[in-house]
Amino acid sequence: MSVTAVVGANWGDEGKGKMTDALAAEARYVVRYQGGSNAGHTIINKYGKFALRMLPSGVFYDTVTNVIGPGVALNISDLFRELEALTARGVPKPNLRISDRAQIVLPYHKQLDELEEQRLGDRKFGSTRSGIAPFYADKAAKLGIQTADLFHRGRLMDRLEAALIPKNVLLEHLYREPQLSAADMLEDLIKLGEKLRPYVCDTTELLQRAVSQGETIVAEGQLGALRDPDHGIYPYSTSSSTLAGYASVGAGLPPHAITRIAAVTKAYSSSVGEGPFTAEIDGPIAHELRQRGGDAGEYGVNTGRPRRMGWFDAVATRYGCMLQGATEAALTNLDVLGFLDDIPVCAAYEIEGTQTTRFPVSARLEQAKPVLETLPGWKSDISSIREFDRLPLQAQNYVLYLERLIGVPVRYISVGPRREQLIER
Ligand code: GDP
Repeated sequence: MSVTAVVGANWGDEGKGKMTDALAAEARYVVRYQGGSNAGHTIINKYGKFALRMLPSGVFYDTVTNVIGPGVALNISDLFRELEALTARGVPKPNLRISDRAQIVLPYHKQLDELEEQRLGDRKFGSTRSGIAPFYADKAAKLGIQTADLFHRGRLMDRLEAALIPKNVLLEHLYREPQLSAADMLEDLIKLGEKLRPYVCDTTELLQRAVSQGETIVAEGQLGALRDPDHGIYPYSTSSSTLAGYASVGAGLPPHAITRIAAVTKAYSSSVGEGPFTAEIDGPIAHELRQRGGDAGEYGVNTGRPRRMGWFDAVATRYGCMLQGATEAALTNLDVLGFLDDIPVCAAYEIEGTQTTRFPVSARLEQAKPVLETLPGWKSDISSIREFDRLPLQAQNYVLYLERLIGVPVRYISVGPRREQLIER
């Protein structure tokens, strides 16, 4: 009877997909409200292992209507590729609705993302090169194309021509690439629009009605709090808000309807891409953590890039939970730490000789050094445990210690990548 937001408390890749898949069992709607196909959510269930980039994580339930809201960067080719891959692997055709106001990621967004990262060289942001920054730049500059524009040939042509004027200047003079023509793209887009048409509707009306009827809705965030463009590690942030507060905007839900906010955080830290990462570790232990982490090692779902590893960062996670307005936390990947004798936790930062537990602004974050506290490890496999009280005492203490540091009750503890490997407290 409420909206639950499942969001990241860290840098992304926290295990939101797994948590959404688990919570979707009780939901009527699962909604994506921001971001695009630039990050992947890994889900392992009875159908196999899937990396969803564009589709909401409720697609494995025939009881769920999956919604792509107006705030999402819609990559139509990625969407159909994923849909076809699901049905090819025996998943029943999901019930999917796409907002008529969602804007479209176009091939030139991807091209400009790639060209800009190349141009930046050593100063690159570590973009996944999926076109997300140029897409949201276009949206802000009022040069974006909405899904419903695909059904109006004349309007689509006008919008494309307007969008291409500044891009062609950049392509020719900054990147030394050939110019693009709206006419060359038009027919392909019209065709994609026709393929998309059966899924397109006014999803805001749909969800508002669902809320007023007391339906259970899960809003699924992409990336994590520290990638938020306003509150995160700017400029190593993403281009749309990663916060639960944005779910009302990007999905079209009344803000007061979001009553539960589950902030997902890993039992250690991982980050893909560039930017400051205070609790980072290197060497053999980082390597071991990377090999054991996630379902098949800590490598980016989209890019295959090795994720950077670190100890649990309580400063960043407390801040992330606060930004999210977390009512509860879900701690994932606890099983991964089972090989360690001792487990360091970054309990505070030291900046210019002073200790702090407050997350600093980007200009000061570069100077932060981790202040580590060490807890005893449990040295055992906990992946088949389903009750908190049955966890080894050291693992219980580790959870309780993190809970105290972040100031949010840890309601879920995930002890493996599979749907059922979950403890609810
Ligand atoms: P998301 O983008 O937040 O959904 O996270 P990703 O899917 O990118 O990364 C999370 C990784 O952790 C995936 O490989 C998941 O299969 C895996 N995972 C999730 N929860 C657990 C857990 O409790 N234990 C282990 N070992 N892996 C987990």
